[in-house]
Amino acid sequence: MAKYVYDFAEGNKDLKDLLGGKGANLAEMTNLGLPVPAGFTITTEACQRFLAEGSHVDGLDDEIDRHLAALESAMGRRLGDAADPLLVSVRSGAKFSMPGMMETVLNVGLNDESVAGLSRQAGGNDRFAWDSYRRLIQMFGKTVCDVPGEEFEDALHKAKQAKGVRDDVQLDSDDLKSLVAAYKKVFSKHVGHEFPQDPRQQLDQAVEAVFRSWNADRAVLYRRQERIPADLGTAVNVVAMVFGNLGPDSGTGVAFTRDPATGESGIYGDYLQNAQGEDVVAGIRNTLPLADLEKIDKKSYDELLQIMATLEGHYHDLCDIEFTIERGKLWMLQTRVGKRTAAAAFTIAAQLVEEGMIDLDEAVTRVSGAQLAQLMFPRFDLSGDPTALTRGVGASPGAAYGEVVFTSAQAVALAGEGRSVILVRRETNPDDLPGMIAAQGILTARGGKTSHAAVVARGMGKTCVCGADQVEVGRDQFTVHGQVVHEGDVISIDGTTGRVYLGEVPVRPSEVVQYFEGDLDPALANEPLVAAVHQLMTHADERARLRVRTNADTGPDAARARRFGAQGIGLCRTEHMFLGDRRELVERLILAHNKTERDDALAALQPLQRADFLEIFREMNGLPVTVRLIDPPLHEFLPSLEELAVQVAVAKERGSSGEEAERDERMLAAVRRMHESNPMLGLRGVRLGLVIPGLFGMQVRAIAEAAVALAAEGGRPKPEIMVPLVGAVQELETVRHEAERIIAEVVGDSGVEVLIGTMIEVPRAALTAGQIAEAAEFFSFGTNDLTQMAWGFSRDDVEGAFFWRYLELGIFGISPFESIDRDGVGRLVRIAGEEGRATRPGLKLGVCGEHGGDPESVHFFHEVGLDYVSCSPFRVPIARLEAGRAAVESAGSDHR
Ligand code: PEP
Ligand code: MG
Repeated sequence: MAKYVYDFAEGNKDLKDLLGGKGANLAEMTNLGLPVPAGFTITTEACQRFLAEGSHVDGLDDEIDRHLAALESAMGRRLGDAADPLLVSVRSGAKFSMPGMMETVLNVGLNDESVAGLSRQAGGNDRFAWDSYRRLIQMFGKTVCDVPGEEFEDALHKAKQAKGVRDDVQLDSDDLKSLVAAYKKVFSKHVGHEFPQDPRQQLDQAVEAVFRSWNADRAVLYRRQERIPADLGTAVNVVAMVFGNLGPDSGTGVAFTRDPATGESGIYGDYLQNAQGEDVVAGIRNTLPLADLEKIDKKSYDELLQIMATLEGHYHDLCDIEFTIERGKLWMLQTRVGKRTAAAAFTIAAQLVEEGMIDLDEAVTRVSGAQLAQLMFPRFDLSGDPTALTRGVGASPGAAYGEVVFTSAQAVALAGEGRSVILVRRETNPDDLPGMIAAQGILTARGGKTSHAAVVARGMGKTCVCGADQVEVGRDQFTVHGQVVHEGDVISIDGTTGRVYLGEVPVRPSEVVQYFEGDLDPALANEPLVAAVHQLMTHADERARLRVRTNADTGPDAARARRFGAQGIGLCRTEHMFLGDRRELVERLILAHNKTERDDALAALQPLQRADFLEIFREMNGLPVTVRLIDPPLHEFLPSLEELAVQVAVAKERGSSGEEAERDERMLAAVRRMHESNPMLGLRGVRLGLVIPGLFGMQVRAIAEAAVALAAEGGRPKPEIMVPLVGAVQELETVRHEAERIIAEVVGDSGVEVLIGTMIEVPRAALTAGQIAEAAEFFSFGTNDLTQMAWGFSRDDVEGAFFWRYLELGIFGISPFESIDRDGVGRLVRIAGEEGRATRPGLKLGVCGEHGGDPESVHFFHEVGLDYVSCSPFRVPIARLEAGRAAVESAGSDHR
């Protein structure tokens, strides 16, 4: 039978899954011989059972009986004994810290009789005993029986009013006795029975209330935000009460073994004399700096410092501590490896290395890509309390403000005058690209993290908030719940939190980005944070097995990514190269009546493409560059059907004729012809290349010529041609056949080598990877489309539409577009990798979907043996760090 209860002496710090963080560390401290009040922990498994069955857990009562008896004998007191009561606290404690999200009940065991016993224990301190009792009724009422907290607050307020005092401490024991009577009335009015006098009943109900608090709204919300799985449950710690509020020789405090902001060793913390922990949290009185304890109680102070040194030496990390002094006796109530800011995580890790406490391998596991990301984005300074407007999906992190504009052209025009603008669109499309480039940030009302706006913005490192569905976008204004924001009004958008503010919120730049960019102010070079980032990144690179490439399709992006440490380009999307002033050529191509017209358009595009590729190859000289042949449906390059139809109808109405009107009509016919109900599943990718003769060939020629040109300059091009949306080997073979012919013709004896490979982004491709590998020298997993097609989720629509419900129901803990779905999409990746390599040993495997820059997913790609991940330039350092961590962690688990 399962064991549901552990005495502190039975546990240890590695049992967090079962005992929660608090229980595991209390056990560890007990076993280190530190002064921990006696107690026991009820496991997370008991909580899981309780929540699943909705009631009583078989066998739990008996176990609690046994452990309670042991606790009573250790303390020499019985729970709620009238003459000499043992009181206990009942505290939550999950595997991951969820500060203040769940419940605690203190002073369990007090009743109408034991209150007198408590007074005697406290040396005849009646006031203290009745104050403890009223706190129990209040906490128990609120937590266990859902009595509205304000009712107790009101009663307390009335008691103070009646006495004519302001502070709780001015109420004497008689006042508190009356308050207890008032609280009991509040309790019975709401609950329908008297406050329970049976201590054991109090304990059982408190335990169940803590279990239930795992599913309280705020706890659910916190878990979702922190990505803590919903099914872990909380442990419950039942601990003998010690009191910090027994007089001036008592008190309570918190301590850190080093400065949580900088990592410096020293004495950090707060102390509050004659108080309980709750008073510190509630901020009722001002605390003293911990160092002042030396003057108040030197013996306890010295003992505390010694314990802090013991804990740091034991955990090899910053620990935070809660302690209480009861009449000159120090008790440890909690310790844990302390939370810290992202900056402190880096500096502390480096500091611990310098002090010889940990090695560099351990240090890289102490920091995360998510923390590095936080350090890389400029942040808003919110000290001015800006006006919040709305909230969307934080799609591309950063902080930006500017005047609201509603069209790409406006964005370009205003930015050209040196003004800062935020482009607000219902959703974006490739036409908006110039405006997106010109704007400081992008706000859309529709679309999720893989919508066009999000992907493009991330690629550019531009701040973007998507799917702000309360925003109604009009022609020259938008509204949020009736509040109107006009064109030209200033808003600020936070791409990390998704928050949108009215007006300009000041922004602070990131020195970590300046460091990666190589333009760090020399005065900052020795800043501990920058030095720590440098040291840990260097080590992560040394340990990483996965290489990190970037998704980049312009020279400047490629150059920046290289500065950020990219080891090549894993995805150069070629579609943007067909926009702007080349649009006219693309229209000619699409509208071509015959082969000659089509060939002319392609011939005009080809040198332009060659120049594009040459620029990128130059920036990535010596490193591989994967160029993907054109992917999106061609009608994306044509005007919108609605707008064109109106334009043509109006022209007809006015009787306009001539070349332009004729051209518009032809265009309209073409747009109608190409219109698709499901364009994502339509004529795109390799299908396009097979349907429009010469299109892929033109691109292949341009790539090969650019490579030859760079080689002629003395460079070392390493081009890789990638075919999108392949589902069958025959598709790839057809493209390959033509491509090889062109490459052979162009490359001649220049020594240039061009690889040909494919994206694996259609589930059928993953399932027939063994065949496809016959025709591919590399695979790159397009996990955006693979996720879309494996789940049948439209990547542009579902995140904003209903993912909230899926997250709420726990169908998944995080959007599968954000972090790889290991069981489904991940399985396709694994199968394709294995079967591809079975056909072609040494087949190069990479990933270029958005998941390539997601920390969790990077670990998965390491595990399944990919050669590289590719991600947007700004996520390159994050992926580098995670690749290093993945290697260190898997080496560690191999040793175990
Ligand atoms: C993908 O599908 O994962 C991919 C990289 O291609 P795109 O996002 O351009 O469709
Ligand atoms: Mg794709």
